[in-house]
Formats: sequence, C-alpha cells, structure tokens
Amino acid sequence: MESFNIDLDDINLDVVYKSFSSLQSGIPYSEELQRMSFDDAVTSDVFSPEQIRRDFPILHQRINGKPLIWFDNAATTQKPKVVIDAVARFYATDNSNIHRAAHTLAGRATDAYEKARDTVRNFIHAAAPEEIVFVRGTTEGINLIVQTYGRKYIGEGDEIIISTLDHHANIVPWQQLAKEKKARLLAIPIDDNGDIILEAYERLLGPKTKVVSFGHVNNTFGTVAPVRTMIEMARRYNARTVIDGAQSIAHTPVDVQKLDCDFFVFSGHKIYAPNGIGAVYGKRELLELLPPWQGGGNMIKDVTIEETQFNVPPARFEAGTPNVAGAVGLGAALDYVKRIGLGAIGTYEHELTEYARTRLSAIKGLHLLGNPRERVSVVSFILDGVPTIEAGQLLDKEGIALRAGHHCAQPALRRFGVEASIRPSFSFYNTKEEIDRLIEAILKVTRQAL
Ligand code: PMP
Repeated sequence: MESFNIDLDDINLDVVYKSFSSLQSGIPYSEELQRMSFDDAVTSDVFSPEQIRRDFPILHQRINGKPLIWFDNAATTQKPKVVIDAVARFYATDNSNIHRAAHTLAGRATDAYEKARDTVRNFIHAAAPEEIVFVRGTTEGINLIVQTYGRKYIGEGDEIIISTLDHHANIVPWQQLAKEKKARLLAIPIDDNGDIILEAYERLLGPKTKVVSFGHVNNTFGTVAPVRTMIEMARRYNARTVIDGAQSIAHTPVDVQKLDCDFFVFSGHKIYAPNGIGAVYGKRELLELLPPWQGGGNMIKDVTIEETQFNVPPARFEAGTPNVAGAVGLGAALDYVKRIGLGAIGTYEHELTEYARTRLSAIKGLHLLGNPRERVSVVSFILDGVPTIEAGQLLDKEGIALRAGHHCAQPALRRFGVEASIRPSFSFYNTKEEIDRLIEAILKVTRQAL
C-alpha cells in the first residue's frame, strides 16, 4: 500500500490556494477567492476535480492494491489539507479552554471558536451568531430541539409530522417524545419515485400540528424535499419547522432566512469538517424562549446550591467544554467549500449523479431504487443474486468504498420492499472515471454471482 506522510509544512493555505491554478488571472488567489460571493464563486468552467483531489491526502492511497475510490460521502466526507492543517495548528499554537480564563491562549481559543460560529452563521445566512449553537452533529442537534422545544411545547394530543424519507436521527427522538407526551407522530408518505407526496402532507397538517421536522435531502435516494413549499404549508398552521440538513449542507446553498425555517441542523463531517462538530440554527426569539438541555459549566449566569440562573443563547445550550478544535476545523471547511462555490459543486455533482444513474441502469440485474424529481449526489440500487452486504465487500476488494446496508433509513427502504441497498454517494472530488471503474467492478461482481 502506498503510504502517505502528512507533512504539516506542505499543508499551508498558500499551497492549497495555488493548486487552483486556473483561477490565476493576475490577481493573487486569496484576493480573488475572497471577492467571490456565495453564489458566483468558481464557475464550472474552471472547476477542476483533479485540482481538488490534490487537497485531500486520504484519496491518494491504494486499498487492496487498487486506487481508493471514496463513494461513501453520504456517510462521511474526507478532509482537505486546509482542515487538517487548521485543527493541527489550533492544537499546536492556540489550544485552551474557552470563555473562562484571562490568559492569552484562552483569548485566542475563544476568538477562534467564536469566529467559527460566525463562519457558520454566514454560510447558512443566519441573522446573528447567537442563532448558532455548536453540537456534536445532526443527531445531537435534533435531540437538543426535541428536548428543549419539544418538551416545553408539545403535549398530549399534539401532532408531530416527519417524513417516511427521514434518517433515524429524525425519527427516533420525536418518537420517544411522542410516547412520553402522548402526542401523535405522523409520517408523510412517499411515492414510487421516492418523492414526498405533498397532497398527503397537506392532509396531515391541521390545528394540532405543533412541529414539522424533515430531511432537506434524503440519504438513500438523494431526494431533495420541496423544502420552501413544505415550510410555507406548515406556517399556515402555525407549526414550527425543523430541517435536517445533514445531506444538503455540502451540496446545495442554504439560506435559513429565505427558507424561514425555525431550526436547521447539520453535521460538520458531512461537509469536509472533523467528526464531532455540527450546528443547530434556531431563530433567536425562539431560542430565547427555550429551556436549557444539559446542565453544567458555561450554560449558567449564576449558581447557588438551591438555584441556577441560565445563560442566554447560544451558551445556554452549550454546557461543558465544547469541541473547540472541531469548530475551528468546521470554519476552515466551510471557507474551503465557499471558495470553490456551492453553485459549481452542485452542477458538477449533478453531472456525476446523472452519469452514474445512466450507466448503472444499463446493467442487467441491477435495480435502481427511486427516481426523485430533484436529486442530489446519492444513488441506491440492489443486484439480482448478490446479497447487498456481500456486494459491498466484493466492491471493497476493488478499492471501492460505498455503503451497503440500511443507511439508518429503514422506513424509506421498506417503502420499496427492501431491507438494504448498495449506495454510492458522490462528492466534488469524484470523477466519471471512478464511476466507470464502479461499473466494471459491478459487472465483475454480477458475473461472479452467475
Ligand atoms: N440525517 C441524515 C439525513 C443523515 O444522512 C445523517 C447521517 N447519515 C444524520 C441525520 C445523522 O448525522 P450524524 O450521524 O452526523 O449525527
């Protein structure tokens, strides 16, 4: 196996920026990149997956003697050197606990953490940094909402609407709350394409609907939910809206003010940031109404043995020492994505996804699951005569990493009458050549099964 030694000196920002050679137009990279706005960042004519791949050390290795193909991006994304570097640099130069001490490193670490919060705010276009709460990821974020908003405002007979497309992270916490509060949990059905049935959603909504919580992008078929329409419909019933952005954050621009959702949650590791860091966006006036979730340091204003006065948001929801280095890494990842531009990323990934669907659908004995109207970066299929898990293992022998299983979306898969599927999921560092290699590998696997 080819070894890859990470030399931190090689991972400084300049080297990375300079890899975007096509952006050079007499203007220094950083200046040009900084001038780009969210929507018009690098356009697809200068978008270069080959250049981008150089930023990701992990991609340059062999697995079972074959070049690694990372098609498990919906499970987690790989980390560019800028992110690895930012985390390493934080520990090498700035590490301290935050918000508490008067010394220099505490000041630097606190600044770095709060700067990352503002980077998140800017990335999803929230109105204020106080609307961003750092959490471990989407799962913890949804649990936070359930345990604060849900416990305070949902009672017996109230209704919670989710979708059949949802990840278990958006099912189980609401189900637990519904059981505890004797509320009703209702799931919007999906059609044979894997699309949300809006008429059915309309019928589920009513005066008892307290909250509508659903995934922006589904992790099994890649369905993009008609999120704005769904939020508007919920609003008509004064229901609160929670958007699970775990699968959308890396693929499509998000503007929480335009969406007008009450909460938006995502995981850093799905967008090239470290594990164990994510964010909850909540409308400021709503966060201010919510009780704390976990108790401990940082979330208080004053403590006596008898009573506690709680801090204001977001500190109220960030008990204990946070993942400061993770937040720094998340900030670096969002800056990196922004420099490339989600517009260009989305266009390229769409091309890859459609190419994969076309090539896969031509394979005899391969059945694609779902055919959503609008879809992003994920394809699911099953193979005649090859058990799904075995297929995943055989493809690993070819150096191809993808997910084979239930993807924590059992209700969605069962709607299609299956318990598991094979799921390649794509990122801006993948290529059509890699998809060609996947097709060859699948043909090999199916030939072996005959
Ligand atoms: N929601 C969706 C749609 C997901 O794809 C995932 C991750 N697979 C999650 C929630 C949970 O994210 P995490 O494990 O990072 O908390």
